[in-house]
Amino acid sequence: MPERNSAAVGRIVKALSGYYYVLPEEMDWHSVPIQCRARGIFKKRGESPLVGDLVTYEHTSNGEGAVNSILPRTSELVRPPVANIDLAVLVFSVTEPALNLQLLDKFLAHIEHAGLQAILCLSKQDLAEHGPDMEEAQQAMEQVKAIYEPIGYEVFSTSSRLGSGTDALYNRLQGHLAVLAGQSGVGKSSLLNALVPGLALETNEISSKLGRGKHTTRHVELIPVGDGYVADTPGFSQLDFTALGCDDLTGCFREMRERAEQCKFRGCTHLHEPGCAVLEALGKGEIAASRYEHYKQFTMELKDKKRRY
Ligand code: GDP
Ligand code: ZN
Repeated sequence: MPERNSAAVGRIVKALSGYYYVLPEEMDWHSVPIQCRARGIFKKRGESPLVGDLVTYEHTSNGEGAVNSILPRTSELVRPPVANIDLAVLVFSVTEPALNLQLLDKFLAHIEHAGLQAILCLSKQDLAEHGPDMEEAQQAMEQVKAIYEPIGYEVFSTSSRLGSGTDALYNRLQGHLAVLAGQSGVGKSSLLNALVPGLALETNEISSKLGRGKHTTRHVELIPVGDGYVADTPGFSQLDFTALGCDDLTGCFREMRERAEQCKFRGCTHLHEPGCAVLEALGKGEIAASRYEHYKQFTMELKDKKRRY
């Protein structure tokens, strides 16, 4: 059978009930996803297309489409199940909920382990300008900038309420397939709504008005943001290093990774060894005390877990 449009390349933006929704790679404003089935060949090979995959597809006679092949992936996340993500945006609110640096470092360690670029986004900026928690919020902002910018993480500040800071973030997302990670309530859905006019994702106050939780349907969906995409997902919800197959956290803390090569002993844990370059840098104040503390805590957690298995 002759194939029509056999060379068309598109991106899977959603997978639901055996269908894949494919957006043409050359998108314009009126592009809509094409509902596709995957060819039987995938099942035979034990392969399955993922959201985020670039695929070749063709239109079929019933007005739908068929996914013919998957182009090579640059990355593959298990949770959330998305292919080709190359950027993680860690969203933390300056307050409500209060900034939790331990959780921030845990997210960052996971992202480093997954080999993704990470940027930080401090949301709810307006609460640092007025309101009861103004001072706490300002402190949180300064602290994050002081700890993370020197080790090379970009820090964006946004307020979805005021619409401020979102342009810079929008520009940063261009050309990337990004995932938003962060605990519930920090304003991820509001941020996406601010980035994409007309999107109208449900946010927390809306879902509580309707008397139901958000994300009742747990499928991953890619949202076009200019010529980039953002995966709308609860994100890295399973924050467990053993599940990730991580056995050395040094590699997940970039400022320690760099220095570990200078440690006297191979396999240095940086907890007590003499001649440890990490401990030396910590002593000189070159490594933030909070970062080191979290490295220690996560290392203990990992040890505990392993002992129990
Ligand atoms: P998500 O769970 O991370 O997706 O967070 P939501 O987007 O649902 O927001 C959680 C709550 O924070 C809601 O009550 C929002 O109205 C509120 N919120 C979101 N963005 C902002 C902001 O920029 N400023 C303020 N003051 N509140 C915000
Ligand atoms: Zn060391």
